[in-house]
Amino acid sequence: MTTTSSFKTTQSDEIFGTAQKLMPGGVNSPVRAFKSVGGQPVVFDRVKGSRVWDVDGNEYIDYVGTWGPAICGHAHPEVIAALHEVLEKGTSFGAPCIQENVLAEMVIDAVPSIEMVRFVNSGTEACMSALRMMRAYTGRDKIVKFQGNYHGHADMLLVQAGSGVATLGLPDSPGVPNTATSSTLAAPYNDLEAVKTLFEQHPGEIAGIMVEPVVGNSGFVAPDAGFLEGLRELTREHDALLAFDEVMTGFRIAYGGAQERFGVIPDVTTLGKIIGGGLPVGAFGARKDIMELVAPSGSMYQSGTLSGNPLAMTAGIKTLELLQKTGTYEQLERITTKLTQGLQQIANEAGHDAYAANISAMFGMFFTGKPVRNFDDAKTSDLDKFARFQRGMLERGIYVAPSQFEGGFTSLAHTDEDIDKTLEIAREVMSSL
Ligand SMILES: *Cc1c(COP(=O)(O)O)cnc(C)c1O
Repeated sequence: MTTTSSFKTTQSDEIFGTAQKLMPGGVNSPVRAFKSVGGQPVVFDRVKGSRVWDVDGNEYIDYVGTWGPAICGHAHPEVIAALHEVLEKGTSFGAPCIQENVLAEMVIDAVPSIEMVRFVNSGTEACMSALRMMRAYTGRDKIVKFQGNYHGHADMLLVQAGSGVATLGLPDSPGVPNTATSSTLAAPYNDLEAVKTLFEQHPGEIAGIMVEPVVGNSGFVAPDAGFLEGLRELTREHDALLAFDEVMTGFRIAYGGAQERFGVIPDVTTLGKIIGGGLPVGAFGARKDIMELVAPSGSMYQSGTLSGNPLAMTAGIKTLELLQKTGTYEQLERITTKLTQGLQQIANEAGHDAYAANISAMFGMFFTGKPVRNFDDAKTSDLDKFARFQRGMLERGIYVAPSQFEGGFTSLAHTDEDIDKTLEIAREVMSSL
């Protein structure tokens, strides 16, 4: 029986204590601070395969995967070896390199909607630039996004989820001017009628729709049958563009992303996370006639000092090569489904309302009795119970995302034994909640 008696956080507490004096909240990205689940975060020392170790020597089976990139498992030996090799030649050129061509070809081959691509350094940059391109292409300003969908922290996309059918965007953060978000319209996810209404209310003004084809930023939320198809039809009907934000789903839901899995081809796609193999990368891509608007072939300005650097490109190339092996996505689907079905059963046996689901290697579990179809449903989860679940798992060696509103991730390094052990511990934790 696993106990919490060996769980120590002396070193983590000391390091994080110092960090809080040096960086806002002690972190460089908010969710890491564990604010929504309470308690102190643990400070990592190293990662390998399905495991992570903190500075006190606690070992965890990891379901965060550095928030998505680690789909082949952490620090995969082939990725590390490839990085060592290019590292010898330098870290950044600020000039063209062959690795850019290789990764661009792989992305273009894989993702149905992409004929040309531009690499950037984060998902935020990818979405921000894709939005600028959509506006440039259509000559229109307004954009439709969905409540509880996250597209990075650019001003125009940081829009509060309003209540009601559809709400004019209000900034989600102080410092974001109303003028930046006044062209952003928000609708509930999986609500085609709401989107239709927005197009009717703003005829000829909407440049396009940006959507997480499978949501990972409200916790895990799958699209209803027909939802993505409906968005495709509506955008065609109104001469607007459809953008899939596949920063999370790209190369995770399927090799060609959610667009391959669901057979709905957007005009514009953003990528990140996995295509950087653990180094900072993002990308946006589309048909040639759209991409040729981007500088220097066109007049839509976009640039980056470190964009396309050989290290990040190499980690991405190696990661995609590993994903091309036969059976990888079948394995990811099998192992993740085993996890979510197990969690659902264990939660119900322990008397908890729960909703656990996954598509491929992306999953979520909510403490609510209803299927979660949108952000409002996600918010019906018992957040206090989730916080106690997360802590209980952490103290017993299972690292679950420290927020109810983050998706979970498995990897090719997760074994059946990892899942069995996780479920055994979940049974123990669930019975104590
Ligand atoms: C993570 C994420 C982003 C932002 O990417 P960063 O690299 O953190 O800037 C954008 N969109 C989606 C769907 C994401 O999951």
